[in-house]
Amino acid sequence: MQIHRLKLSGFKSFVEPAELRIEPGLTGVVGPNGCGKSNLLEAIRWVMGETSAKSLRSGGMEDVIFAGTSTRPPRDFAEVVLHASDDGDDELVVTRRIERGAGSAYRVNGRDVRAKDVALTFADAATGAHSPALVSQGKIAQVIAAKPTERRAMLEEAAGIAGLHVRRKDAESKLRGAETNLARLEDLMAGLD
Ligand code: ATP
Repeated sequence: MQIHRLKLSGFKSFVEPAELRIEPGLTGVVGPNGCGKSNLLEAIRWVMGETSAKSLRSGGMEDVIFAGTSTRPPRDFAEVVLHASDDGDDELVVTRRIERGAGSAYRVNGRDVRAKDVALTFADAATGAHSPALVSQGKIAQVIAAKPTERRAMLEEAAGIAGLHVRRKDAESKLRGAETNLARLEDLMAGLD
């Protein structure tokens, strides 16, 4: 999956709407300490459905909203829009927006969706908020120290099969529901005999 464009508004230090075009090939982000380089990577993770505030270096999810400075008031919402596509596929436009007191809402190509749908969309494309392709500071040391089960999760994500686990869990729970219904039906039918 290739990310083409990223739009941020009110996300962390990106108080004013900002748009970044990401050209094919290697992209580097340079700038002085504290200018927002890591915030950019976190914006990508966040729009892909990150639910852990800690991994966004925040205390709570609303902390991603611009908190204000001595000269600027805080914002009420943060929004990130990611444009991406797979080889030859139509463009995928994913939006995540958070409002103070109202939580997060997601849209994929203009349609309201659940967080789970966004996570599955990216998992099927072998990427997502926890993709090893998103390398933040300290991540390399973390990979070296990872347990075998954690390394396996990284390999499964890279192989594009991470989404299958979620679907398998859903299918198993539906199967259990169907088996319970069947057992009840058999009881009822036995009562009718
Ligand atoms: P370094 O090179 O030191 O790693 P960096 O370029 O990666 O720095 P970031 O860590 O992305 O910089 O940005 C940090 C800046 O973002 C800090 O100035 C911090 O005050 C600001 N920031 C983070 N969250 C918010 C928020 N919710 N509201 C306003 N500013 C924020």
